[in-house]
Amino acid sequence: MSLDAPAKSSAPNKLVIRNIGLLLSGDLDHPILDADTVVAIDGVIHAVGKEKDIDTTGANTTIDAKGTALAPGLIDSHVHPVCGDWTPRQNQLGWIDSCLHGGVTTMVSAGEVHTPGRPKDIVGLKAMAIFAQRAFHAFRPGGVKVYAGAPVLEQGMVEDDFKELAAAGVKFLGEVGLGSVKDGVTGRRMVAWARKYGIQSTIHTGGPSIPGSSLIDKDMVLETDADVIGHVNGGHTALPDDQIVALCERSPRALEIVHNGNERAGLLALRTAKELKQLHRVILGTDSPAGSGVQPLGILRMISMLSSLGEIPAELAICLATGNTAKMRSLNCGLIAAGREASFVFLDTAQQSAGKNLLDSIQKGDLAGVGMVVTDGAISIQRSRNTPPATRVPEVVRA
Ligand SMILES: [Zn+2]
Repeated sequence: MSLDAPAKSSAPNKLVIRNIGLLLSGDLDHPILDADTVVAIDGVIHAVGKEKDIDTTGANTTIDAKGTALAPGLIDSHVHPVCGDWTPRQNQLGWIDSCLHGGVTTMVSAGEVHTPGRPKDIVGLKAMAIFAQRAFHAFRPGGVKVYAGAPVLEQGMVEDDFKELAAAGVKFLGEVGLGSVKDGVTGRRMVAWARKYGIQSTIHTGGPSIPGSSLIDKDMVLETDADVIGHVNGGHTALPDDQIVALCERSPRALEIVHNGNERAGLLALRTAKELKQLHRVILGTDSPAGSGVQPLGILRMISMLSSLGEIPAELAICLATGNTAKMRSLNCGLIAAGREASFVFLDTAQQSAGKNLLDSIQKGDLAGVGMVVTDGAISIQRSRNTPPATRVPEVVRA
């Protein structure tokens, strides 16, 4: 069996995006680029710069951005998919496609834990993880990439299990603490095995999410030392403030803030990371589907909430949901730079916003309007059905 994408035709597929009004790179160190044109070939960014300096001839598709902003497609660092574009949590169809209309082009599974009858024996949990990885590799709703197949740690797993999962293509663990491993010693041992074979880990942080899950406090988070401190602001119930500050100060790992968490605690984590000059560790997720439902605009809402109430410039808040997450999750998306995946979201000021431009509107707490989304160099959607309407939207001038 091959996992490769279907064979492409031999002629290169060239996408030109011109007349970009604001180029938001996703890179925290250089969030705004002095560029108005992006060229992608076969789904990969080939050139970024001024139109006069770039070869824009021979395009299969040309998009006139009409002066709108171009940002990397947003990444949701924390989702709980199950199968296809369906979630049993709220028995909802099409939730991933709805998030695409919120600018999300990449999702990372924190465990397929809502699967009805989820197997908890080791053979069963490995089989389910490999199935989910395969299924979402082959199925991309609207073009959204879902990195799924994230097994939850259960007692009795041995090093060979992680070796086998890695060899089968599993790249992420589900949230540590959602299975039967609930002590730091066992968690640390298993997370180290996972890391040895290239599998990244995330730990649940805070009180229980739903009946059946349990408290993970700062001592267990620090002892386990997973790569990502999952929902440092709780999912939903947050740790006490002093424990959140301790995690920011004493761990070098990624600090994930989620929509389905405690918003005040999220702002505390953001401010603490900012004071520590470690904003690069902050990444964003929704933790949906959840008891609070699915938030198709969850990442856009986080960007506006953290920018307006956390007082960070909008162009930096967008980096938290793009370049930061890509770096912490080792993904080749999230930046507008040559060699990166050509997945983009076109943003503009929502109609009638009091903000004087896109960035000002976000800093005032309004949501951006999505005018188009491109995944892997192909147009996935034009004007979003879910965001407030963008004032200006891009146009396809030749396709
Ligand atoms: Zn959780």
